[in-house]
This record gives sequence, structure tokens and C-alpha cells, in this order.
Amino acid sequence: MEKYDVAIIGSGPGGYVGAIRCAQLGMKTALIEKYDSLGGTCLNVGCIPSKALLDSSEHYHQAEKDFKEHGIELKDLKVNFKQMVERKRGVVEQTVGGIDFLMKKNKIDVYHGMGSFEDKNTIKISGKKEEKIEAKNIVIATGSKPASLPFIEIDKERIITSTEALELDNVPKKMIVIGGGVIGLELGSVYARLGTQVDVIEYMDRIIPTMDSTMGKELQKSLKKLGMNFHLSHKVKEVKRNKNKVTVKADDKKGKEVSFDADYCLVSVGRRPYTDNLGLDKAGVKVDDKGRVEVNEKLQTNVSHIYAIGDVVRGAMLAHKAEEEGTFVAEVINGEHPHVDYNLIPGVVYTWPEVASVGKTEEELKEAKVNYKVGSFPFKASGRARASMDTDGLIKVLADKETDEILGVHMCGPRAADMIAEAVVAMEYRATAEDISRMSHAHPTFTEAFREATLDATGKRAIHI
Ligand code: FAD
Ligand code: NAD
Repeated sequence: MEKYDVAIIGSGPGGYVGAIRCAQLGMKTALIEKYDSLGGTCLNVGCIPSKALLDSSEHYHQAEKDFKEHGIELKDLKVNFKQMVERKRGVVEQTVGGIDFLMKKNKIDVYHGMGSFEDKNTIKISGKKEEKIEAKNIVIATGSKPASLPFIEIDKERIITSTEALELDNVPKKMIVIGGGVIGLELGSVYARLGTQVDVIEYMDRIIPTMDSTMGKELQKSLKKLGMNFHLSHKVKEVKRNKNKVTVKADDKKGKEVSFDADYCLVSVGRRPYTDNLGLDKAGVKVDDKGRVEVNEKLQTNVSHIYAIGDVVRGAMLAHKAEEEGTFVAEVINGEHPHVDYNLIPGVVYTWPEVASVGKTEEELKEAKVNYKVGSFPFKASGRARASMDTDGLIKVLADKETDEILGVHMCGPRAADMIAEAVVAMEYRATAEDISRMSHAHPTFTEAFREATLDATGKRAIHI
């Protein structure tokens, strides 16, 4: 039986990054993946394909809505959805191929097949053939799968999850989206841009409810302009398919029954940790009441040489969080003392405008009774945003009232996904709002809006509002 220093189960951004870091540190490393392609949810059916469709659909939308005003006239503009999906497949293929290359480069042994514990140190791999390997340390990086509601039967044809929504044959006329979170809004906006009538049904009284509430309000205004309909404070109680039609029944906030019809229903109510058929009981590894593998601050399970990372453990289900933990765990195994600051892991919604956040929300600061101040700046006051016709949204900075330290930054606007990095750096170095306000930001850029929001936070010094 082949023996390893580390075996990692799951090749998503947690697993493959962890494997590379282990190999860099000189450990003999195995990576086990049940599918033929590496990269996990993120590369195959998550981050990368969704962004490919978001980019393509946004190009179409701009051509349709904004080009004329820019002075560009097009004849016979139409969507070739098959080509759009084909391009997306190409992007995924290339990206996944890159991971194969990185595994070879780092001399990591890759096993394709379902990994399961035989005991605390032995893993059985059931693929084309059955193999067993032994490892001193094991990392569970098995990720997550779409969650559903108890009364919904996902048939993957008309009642679908994000995985199928990335592979439809044509642009639906009508789509119901259950859940106004990240997936619902990203994929909902892809189809709304392409002409689908999209109805979002959300249980809470706002969309993206875990983010700062100003962001949900701003984004909803923009997505309404795109034609998306929102039904907030609605409790879905029935989802039925009849041939090519799906009917969803829900109770509105007054308890009155409402009904929606569409060609497709996308169920995007969250994801669940995935440990099916992993044989955790054979290794004696515990899970919590939500099915997540329990870990301590070193990401060790209750069995000290078995670790777990990414979507299968507590915390945000984000690729870059999983990557951080992959690196972290490799360094822990190597006897180092790494650190992940979970407060500084940014969250992004890749709609247009984009939403990006880091640190505390205003609601969290209120609840923690922190004495804070707010500075904000709307994109409609930005010259750069006017030039590119991206004037929706704003940047909001939350800073400690006494010390001026930045505690949270929330952006809804053009290129917010990229701009949030400046806020992460600022907060990592514990910058004050005044620190940022005194740094030169190139003109004209969207980043000036961040500086203006910090100026606003420090004694209302903003220049352009
Ligand atoms: P995963 O990526 O889920 O990988 C786990 C891997 O383990 C899978 O390949 C699985 O096949 C394998 N596996 C499971 N069990 C076994 C077993 N027993 N044996 C062998 N292999 C096994 N996050 C972002 O940060 N940004 C985004 O833009 C973003 N967009 C997303 C869009 C969509 C539509 C979805 C669904 C998710 C998106 N996410 C995004 C979330 C992101 O994909 C996840 O947070 C991330 O993939 C988690 O990484 P992971 O390594 O923990 O697990
Ligand atoms: P989510 O948690 O973002 O949103 C789920 C939404 O469904 C919430 O708004 C919730 O209130 C709502 N909901 C729950 N039960 C409901 C019900 N019965 N009726 C109506 N609404 C209901 O989950 P998601 O959008 O499915 O995404 C899953 C995970 O994937 C998220 O944790 C997210 O972090 C990750 N993801 C990230 C990105 C990104 O980083 N850009 C993109 C896609 C997915």
C-alpha cells in the first residue's frame, strides 16, 4: 500500500491549494477526487462557469441597453445561447486543465475515485479500480452540495439547482428563483439580462440578507431596473411540476397564498456540507448538528491527525476562504503557526453593479453596541462612473467613532469585487478612515469613491458631495 505524509480528500479550492502547499513544504502528498476533473464545485459548477455566463450576459445587456447612448449602433443583435454555454465550457475546461498541470508540476499523486475512510489512517478509493492508501495526516476537503426544502423534489430538468442552471439548452421565458441570496441573484441576473422574466421569492424581508442592509436595498433597485421582480417576506410552501411548467405556491407577509408559474424553478436556498459515503464513522470523526465536520481553531477534527477545511466546516462557503484554510492546514501539519483572520475574508456578489463587503456590517456593530460613524459616497457623484454609465450604488465605510479605525466597508457599484481588496489591505493594517483619505487615488477611477467615503467618515470632508 502506498504511504503518504498527507492525503487530501476533495480537489476543490480548499483541497488542491492545500495539496500544493503540502508539496511545497516537502510532504509526500496524495489528492483524491471522485470526479474525472479536478477543481471541485468552484471550477466546474460554481465560481468560474457562473462568472463566464455573467460576463457574456452583461456584454449582451450592455449592447442592447447602453450602446446606443455610447454612439454604437448594432443591427440584428441576438443571443446565441448555445455558443454562450459552449464558451463557458471552454473556460471551465481550460481552468480545470490548469489544475492537472499544477498537480504534475508539484509531484502530487492524484487518485480519481470516491474516497472513504477504512480506519483513522487508511483511505479506500473506489474508482475505475479499487485502491487503498495510508497517510500520517488526512485532510477532509469534500465541500458542499445544493440544499433544498423538505417538500421540494429537485428533478434537475425543470426544478433545478445552480448546476443545471449553468447548462440550460435555451433561454427560458420565465424563471422562478427561490432564495434571494448570492446564487439566486447572480444566476437570476444572467437570465434576466438575456430576456427571461425572473421572479425572486425570498423568505426574509430583504435580498442578500446576511450582508449590510444598505447593500440589499441598493442592489434591489438596480436589479428591478433590469426587470427582475422581488417577492420578499414570502414563505414558499409548494413546488409542483406539470410537464414543462412549474408552479410555486407561497404565503406572502400577510399570510395570503400567492402562486407563480414559470418554465423553470431555480432552488437556491443555500448549500449543505457534503460528507456522504465518506465513512467518517470508521475514523471516529464527529460532525455537528448542521452536518459540518467539527474542527478546532487549528482545523483539527476530534481525531488529531485528521483535519477538515472549506465548505465542509463552519464559516462562509467561499472559494477564497477554502483556499486560505488549505494553506493554513498544510502549514499547521508542518509544525508552523499560521493565522486566518475570518473577519477580513471579503464577500462578493457578481451582479452588476457588484456588491462587495469586508468586516462588520452596520447591524453587527449596532448589536455589539460599538460606537461607530458612517461615511458614504454615491457613484452618481463619480466622474469615472458617469463616463462609463455605471452610476448606480455607493460605498459605505464604518469606522470606530473614537479611534477612527475602519471596522467595515460595503460597496455596491462598478468593479466593487476588485475594489474591496483595498479595504482588506487597509483593515489588515488597521488603517483609520483618515489614513485612506490622505492617500492619493488615481483620477478618474472608481477607487476615488472609497477615498471620498473615508473623507465623509472623517468629519464630513468629502469633496464631491
Ligand atoms: P468544493 O469546491 O465543493 O470541492 C470538494 C470536492 O470534493 C469536489 O470536487 C467533490 O467531488 C470532492 N469530493 C467530495 N466527497 C468526496 C469523496 N468522498 N471522495 C473524493 N472526492 C470527493 N465562491 C466564491 O468565493 N466566489 C464565487 O464567485 C463563487 N461562485 C459560486 C457559484 C456557484 C454557482 C456555486 C455553487 C458556488 C460558488 N462559490 C463561490 C462557492 C465555492 O464554489 C465554494 O465555496 C468552494 O468551491 C468550496 O471549496 P471546497 O474546496 O471546500 O469544496
Ligand atoms: P445563500 O445563503 O446566499 O442564500 C440563500 C437565500 O435563500 C437566503 O437569502 C435565504 O434567506 C433564502 N431562503 C432560505 N430558505 C428559504 C425559503 N424557504 N424560501 C425562500 N427563501 C429562502 O445561498 P445560495 O445563494 O444558495 O448560495 C450557497 C452558497 O454558495 C453561499 O453560502 C455562498 O457563499 C456560495 N456562493 C458564493 C458566491 C460568491 O461568492 N459570489 C456565488 C454563489 C454561491
